[in-house]
Amino acid sequence: MNTSNNVLIIGSGVSGMEACIMLSKAGKKITLVEKLSLIGGKTIKNEETYPNMDCSTCLVAPIQQEILQDPNIDVLTLSTVEEVQGKSGNFKVKINKKARYVDLIACLGCGMCYPPCPVSLKNEWEENLIDKKAIYVPCSGALPNVPVIDAALCLKLNGSEECNKCAEACMFGAINFSETDQIIELNVGAILIATGYDMLDAGKLQNLGYGKFSGVYTSMEFERLFAANGPTEGKLVLRNLESIPQSIAIIHCVGRDLVGYCSNICCTASAKHAHFLHHKLPDANIYNFYTDICLPDKTYQKFHEDVKSHSSEYIYQKDREKMKIQETDNKLQISYLNNEGKDAAITVDMVILENALQPSRGTDQLAEALGVELDQFGFVEAQTFHIGSVVTSKNGIFVAGCIEGPKDIQNSVLQAEAAVAGIISSLDQ
Ligand SMILES: Cc1cc2nc3c(=O)[nH]c(=O)nc-3n(C[C@H](O)[C@H](O)[C@H](O)COP(=O)(O)OP(=O)(O)OC[C@H]3O[C@@H](n4cnc5c(N)ncnc54)[C@H](O)[C@@H]3O)c2cc1C
Ligand code: SF4
Ligand code: SF4
Repeated sequence: MNTSNNVLIIGSGVSGMEACIMLSKAGKKITLVEKLSLIGGKTIKNEETYPNMDCSTCLVAPIQQEILQDPNIDVLTLSTVEEVQGKSGNFKVKINKKARYVDLIACLGCGMCYPPCPVSLKNEWEENLIDKKAIYVPCSGALPNVPVIDAALCLKLNGSEECNKCAEACMFGAINFSETDQIIELNVGAILIATGYDMLDAGKLQNLGYGKFSGVYTSMEFERLFAANGPTEGKLVLRNLESIPQSIAIIHCVGRDLVGYCSNICCTASAKHAHFLHHKLPDANIYNFYTDICLPDKTYQKFHEDVKSHSSEYIYQKDREKMKIQETDNKLQISYLNNEGKDAAITVDMVILENALQPSRGTDQLAEALGVELDQFGFVEAQTFHIGSVVTSKNGIFVAGCIEGPKDIQNSVLQAEAAVAGIISSLDQ
């Protein structure tokens, strides 16, 4: 017999958000737990999404707003699930909610508090392409549009200096240094894991020069470079913030041999990147280096063909491990084995590495707290061949989106919808 009809959703990407909205419409009360200070997941890092090149913000912002305003949905940002006990219909959950030090209601998001802060550090959310202050929002347009103070770096909170500059700049009294971390206890009937992915560290592929040569970028760095709300406000310049690249190589399947699977989305993301580049820099030479092309959807073939005929030369490389990138005279030389197995090389200004997707960081600990099994790659295992593609090894706990395995937005949303059906039927038992 169920003692709770409420649902816990972990992760606020497109999968978690879709499930929230559907469950709310079905009259359920939901707690949405997100570890970051903003909701929306990776899709809000994209300027446009394939295959239709829709504006990501236009797609996602109304959903984020709906979630933040829905009385059935309690959004807990800066939060992680620490402990889960009980069984389907009656889980007892402990959540660790970190202090934001800024009042979510009093803050108007005016941004007056960041400039006076004397502390600067790399902005991880912006792929370390720009700096942020100790009080910050990760990007403009973040929702909730309320800053957070990094307690380890804030001079006042870490006790290294007397500082009150942000509080003095805030005309609304929204800064609250006395806020503390909290443990929140909940009783829920079902749980959805929607914690998505993180990118493989491209520095592990030493032959490709990431972290060594400034012209080598990851795919997510490129997404942010292209974004109007990103570090260069969408201006496509190299790290010196001046030079415009005239030749760009996009390398597919980066780290595929390390992780041991195809990341599903990178061929289409590569086509999107070539399409972006062609529109922004119509005279630039764009090369896509591939070994296989994976186009898993009915619309993707046409998108790829269009890019191939208009925007990018596709170059087959016979052996991924033989590719080597070196820097000479501020240019990047790419040596590779061509389709005949012979040595070949081209020189470019910029390289974009389409690096593999991996389970989001912290999945091991989360899986242990929830008591669910992971697959051989570390993704949450769905019981696809037994009882369903969204059912985990533990009754009452479901999975959707990229934490089950890399997939595009459409398939993440589809899986979230399937999980909602599973959750509703499990709660109605
Ligand atoms: C470079 C690139 C470009 C892409 N472009 C496209 C595109 O154009 N079109 C397309 O269809 N797809 C695209 N994708 C794929 C798309 O990003 C994914 O399909 C989508 O983000 C999956 O959503 P998700 O909700 O499953 O995961 P995510 O977007 O990863 O969201 C997961 C959320 O969970 C949170 N989280 C993680 N761990 C925890 C935890 N322990 N506790 C609480 N919260 C946690 C994260 O902070 C995040 O907010 C692209 C992917 C890449 C890498
Ligand atoms: S904390 Fe105050 S100054 Fe900072 S964004 Fe909010 S209202 Fe503006
Ligand atoms: S109190 Fe902390 S966050 Fe505020 S301005 Fe000083 S160092 Fe920055």
